Amino acid sequence: MQIYNTQFHKKQEFTPIDEGKVRMYVCGPTVYDQIHIGNARTFLSFDMIRRYLMFKGYQVTFAQNLTDVDDKIINRANEQGRTPAEVAEEFSTAFIEQMRRFGILDPDIRPRATREIEAMQEMISSLIEQGNAYTVPSGDVYFSVRSDNAYGILSGRDLDRLRAGERVEVNDEKHDPFDFALWKAAKPGEPSWPSPWGAGRPGWHTECCAMIHRHLGTPIDIHGGGADLVFPHHENETAQAMCAWHTPLANVWMHAGMLRVEGDKMSKSLGNFFTLKEVLDRYPADAVRLLMLQTHYRAPLDFSFERLDGAAGTLERLATCVENLRWAADTAPQDGILSELDRSLGAAVDAAREEFVASMDDDFNSAGGLAAIFGLVSTANKYLADAGGNMETAPCLRAADMLCELSGVLGIDLAKAGAADELPAGIVDLAREQAGYAGDSASEAVNALLAARAEARASKNWGVADAIRDGIAALGLSVEDTVAGARLRMRE
Ligand SMILES: [Zn+2]
Repeated sequence: MQIYNTQFHKKQEFTPIDEGKVRMYVCGPTVYDQIHIGNARTFLSFDMIRRYLMFKGYQVTFAQNLTDVDDKIINRANEQGRTPAEVAEEFSTAFIEQMRRFGILDPDIRPRATREIEAMQEMISSLIEQGNAYTVPSGDVYFSVRSDNAYGILSGRDLDRLRAGERVEVNDEKHDPFDFALWKAAKPGEPSWPSPWGAGRPGWHTECCAMIHRHLGTPIDIHGGGADLVFPHHENETAQAMCAWHTPLANVWMHAGMLRVEGDKMSKSLGNFFTLKEVLDRYPADAVRLLMLQTHYRAPLDFSFERLDGAAGTLERLATCVENLRWAADTAPQDGILSELDRSLGAAVDAAREEFVASMDDDFNSAGGLAAIFGLVSTANKYLADAGGNMETAPCLRAADMLCELSGVLGIDLAKAGAADELPAGIVDLAREQAGYAGDSASEAVNALLAARAEARASKNWGVADAIRDGIAALGLSVEDTVAGARLRMRE
């Protein structure tokens, strides 16, 4: 399996540190507001990556933090006359709720910055002792980028050129403008913890690094985040690990591309800013997921509601194909002798799986994986049309199961598609009345009714056909004529 490693600017064969196991970490949100769909795209990308690694048989340990102390949280709390802890609690809960709604698997470990202060202080102490960090009179502690010869290795930046080219925060206490705070001295009214350097709170770059070391051990296999985190956040993370423990933080660095809305950068001032919650209130989670996974995770994603409508239609087509295959499998004449056509569907099932795996093995190319799934949908639809009612159960079921399995690897849940809905009790009475049915099985009653309706239509006995249809409608069901024959559907 090939994975693109940001650090080396190329795809590399993936070899886990411990055979069969993957330890991965993805930087979580700062919990001061609802997350927007750009963040959601990053978290979805790593959910897809995690799910595929599990599909490949790896035992994955996935950690993601919550940054629950930060300037943004403190500012929001001050604006609203609340405590920072209240704001952090509200949006931590909201984040977890929206992630679950989006079908994103819970992390195995979800450390919160405010509960990991001790691990951070240990790391900072070690950096000071080794000459990589220094204290200043105000009580802040800074990391000295000049003390680390490898600084810039991840993002490919050169400190001297950076200084000339980029604007950085001016601070007289720092030895170098790119030095960053490991510990921030407490200001009045801010949350703080006691420390050897005075009361204060950890810097953002410090928390991930210390939490990874504590919960997963360093180096880990995969460290992920949005592309906007490469510099300075991830550069600073890896510098701390190299200096504190003399190990890289991660073997593979992965970054998800940015999301644009109708070609523009998403921003509140442009009025094209959407939270995940707003979007999930309007569209099924799997349609949003499908839209996002149609673009490779590293490429920029162009989001629009028009494209989202398209994805919702595509999802419907996929679910309908699975339903039709299951229905065909249930009603097919089962002589077990496979025709040329049946065998070609079976071959298409195998080919789709191979194509899916080949795409996903190539740096998690979910767009290619989806193309394999939709290739099988086209073949299956053609099979159902060409078979003219002469379908065979086994290839129909295999195709339906494969579509569900491969979609499931991408987190798209088709389990409900084609599953038997509970039939209303009145269906048996209706079949007795209209189709001369004598048993008491609801599914047999459905077949008897559909057969009687087909017979009535064939002999142009419209009164009988209509009476059956109306009886079915009165039970809250509808008759649907599909390429695979007529069937009943629960009315929505
Ligand atoms: Zn981080």
